[in-house]
Amino acid sequence: MSTQRGALSEPDLLLSQCLIDGEWIGGEGAPIAVDDPFTGETIGTVPRLDKDHANRAIDAAARAFPGWAGRTAQDRGRVLRKWYDLIVTHKEDLARLITRENGKTLAEARGEVDYGAGFMEFYADEATRVMGETIPAPVPGRRLLAEREPVGVCAAITPWNFPLAMMTRKVGPALAAGCTVVGKPATATPLTALAFARLGEEAGVPRGVLNMLTGSAAGIGGAITASSTVRKLSFTGSTEIGEQLYRECAGTMKRLSLELGGNAPLLIFDDADLATAVETAAVAKFRNSGQSCIAANRIYVQQGIYDRFLAAFAARVQGMKAGDGFDPASDIGPLIDRAAVDKVSEHRDAALAGGGRLLAGGGDAGGLLFHPTLVADVTPDAQLACEETFGPLAGVISFGTLEQGLQLANDTPFGLAAYMCAQDPATIARVSRGLESGMVGINTGLISSPHAPFGGVKMSGLGREGSHHGLEEYLNIKYLCHAGL
Ligand code: ADP
Repeated sequence: MSTQRGALSEPDLLLSQCLIDGEWIGGEGAPIAVDDPFTGETIGTVPRLDKDHANRAIDAAARAFPGWAGRTAQDRGRVLRKWYDLIVTHKEDLARLITRENGKTLAEARGEVDYGAGFMEFYADEATRVMGETIPAPVPGRRLLAEREPVGVCAAITPWNFPLAMMTRKVGPALAAGCTVVGKPATATPLTALAFARLGEEAGVPRGVLNMLTGSAAGIGGAITASSTVRKLSFTGSTEIGEQLYRECAGTMKRLSLELGGNAPLLIFDDADLATAVETAAVAKFRNSGQSCIAANRIYVQQGIYDRFLAAFAARVQGMKAGDGFDPASDIGPLIDRAAVDKVSEHRDAALAGGGRLLAGGGDAGGLLFHPTLVADVTPDAQLACEETFGPLAGVISFGTLEQGLQLANDTPFGLAAYMCAQDPATIARVSRGLESGMVGINTGLISSPHAPFGGVKMSGLGREGSHHGLEEYLNIKYLCHAGL
């Protein structure tokens, strides 16, 4: 990196090549520039690879598979543990890379490194806990067993909002299970994933076991989906692309994990603790500048606490500052690109045109910055309540009864995360059971953990990541029927 801002202590972690079959290679055409969303400066370039390179990577992963799957689980676990240690050792450099290419604050980037590293640590241990079953035989003289085996070559396609964690969340369990991987990070934020792959090499990941490619999403994605060698695809990104990949994978009947868009509601009930509700809303809405698929997109507040909540939340949001991710005074960083800023502006305009009251922030803060913004008295059919805003704009809507709140919360095709703040145990039980979502945060806006199953229902996707459920996604069950005993 040319300037001091965000310079790495180990410059070798800023890579401009991709990893295929243990070789670091460039592409043929002009490389892709990776820009810092705060300064607009180009911070590095990555190869523009396409279909042929993807097929080479798939072949390499297939060649590496028997050797990797044939190792003991303890041995694979030790490699993952060493990788985890290296991520921790290089935490500061990885955090700087994340802030530079993604824009999030350094504090959040450090948090992401801890979270992302956590998947490597968790699955290093979990590798040794893949168990089989003995099934009581319904016929004398038989022994019935169910074993688990790795699914084979897997692909991991990740988005730009968590450049490290979205990759470790897939690569950790895949390698723990004995699978080999072809990874493709988002074009806007590929540098962290390449550094992660580089640390994997150092940890002893054998050639071909992890391949990391940048370039044409459609070319690389198309080669992955068309390949009968690739037995599983794990994708995190938009519902639109997820649907497309689902269709493309039908011809080769791949296993799929799809972690797609969300439109998370936050329900605040009359008996909620006010400070907890404000903290939950602030974290669930503004973390990562609102650019998270589990960001609270719609905040529904019961009438009895509505005014008190708005006064306290407005004060909180007014105190938040958008700025350079490297400036410790910044609470949120820039958005990823101009289209993201435009979308947030459009949602704000529509909410205000529909009668919303602006209580904090307002808009554009220069470059790709957007002031943390709060609009009250939003109507349930406002654009910001129906589409993922993916930015630092909070819209608050009032509701009457528990049933009305639940009905509003579930009135969406999506079902990733949902949040609620209340104290009455019966309210908590009824609402958390009634919410149509894969995850529910109760009196907290921070729910992600390598130890817990992350994933959605409805149009938010298929499968779970994290926890022992996340490992199952990379394992097939094989039934053995032994007769004549
Ligand atoms: P986001 O809004 O998070 O960028 P996308 O779904 O556009 O969501 O992108 C998520 C990931 O999917 C990125 O790595 C992107 O490059 C990749 N991607 C986009 N289009 C395709 C495609 N046609 N095939 C495979 N991957 C794709």
